Amino acid sequence: MSIKVLGVSKLYGQQKALDQVSFEINSGEIVGFLGPNGAGKSTMMKIITGFIPQTSGQVFVNDQIVDAEAIDIRQQIGYLPEHNPLYLDMYVREYLRFVGGLYRIDKIKDRVEEMIELTGLQIESSKKIGALSKGYRQRVGLAQALIHDPSVLILDEPTSGLDPNQIVEIRDLIARVGLKKTVMLSTHIMQEVEAICGRIIIINKGQIVAEESTQNASNILHSTEIITQIELSKTINSSVFKQIKGINEAQNIKDQIWVIRSQMDVRQQIFDLAIKENFSILSMQLVEKTLEQIFQEVTQKK
Ligand code: ADP
Ligand code: MG
Repeated sequence: MSIKVLGVSKLYGQQKALDQVSFEINSGEIVGFLGPNGAGKSTMMKIITGFIPQTSGQVFVNDQIVDAEAIDIRQQIGYLPEHNPLYLDMYVREYLRFVGGLYRIDKIKDRVEEMIELTGLQIESSKKIGALSKGYRQRVGLAQALIHDPSVLILDEPTSGLDPNQIVEIRDLIARVGLKKTVMLSTHIMQEVEAICGRIIIINKGQIVAEESTQNASNILHSTEIITQIELSKTINSSVFKQIKGINEAQNIKDQIWVIRSQMDVRQQIFDLAIKENFSILSMQLVEKTLEQIFQEVTQKK
């Protein structure tokens, strides 16, 4: 077991950011840590890396307990913090040598060159960090997380704020280095984890709400019901909706407002039906469910 989190809670003053969180990540896994903003992802990652203490519970990395005194465990953990705080005035090489020095790495110069090559920083390697694009700064962030060859990588929203091309490049890089490491990466975007993670852990409001293989999670998401809310110009009988294939349920929630549950997007069919049945549609919208809602529903059904 590379990462083991046991009943971890974290209070910021009165606010509970993490509530009895437990999970395990095996060696060699790439796990996506998914959840909306404010769910507690960064807090959990800061605790795993030993940057802040938990209020209660325990964390183990490579079977060693992580706490404020366990400085040596940091040799085994690479961490890309959320806002990737870099020294903007430093040159890329200067910065990486500085970080390597903190880990007392032998042959620092060679190691820095290896990292520059691995993360594709060659053409930008003579610049100051402040002069780099966000995508290249993320590469520097990854290079500093990897420089001491940790077995465990904790990446907090590694692709946030990047453009689509940069996202693909950083993703590929993570998938490549992840072949030989245990990786936990946080994101609030499902597509992110579908591409590279074998498993996902979903957190919401400080609690774990689901753990699934990525394959299962994708299946669940793609098979989930679509909800459409419509407001009509007149009262109709619910049997009218039976004419549309794929509608599971049409529920009249109040006056002429209906909630339609279907297997696919039926908005076009509803428009056609309105013409045929001679009613007007005053409004129609898809009700987007959050990832958490979907998984909560599914896990409750189990
Ligand atoms: P995420 O990374 O999933 O967006 P965070 O772990 O950053 O979530 O935050 C979880 C909750 O804890 C949020 O409600 C946030 O406002 C709160 N929080 C985070 N850091 C602090 C802090 N240093 N002091 C007080 N509250 C905090
Ligand atoms: Mg965060």
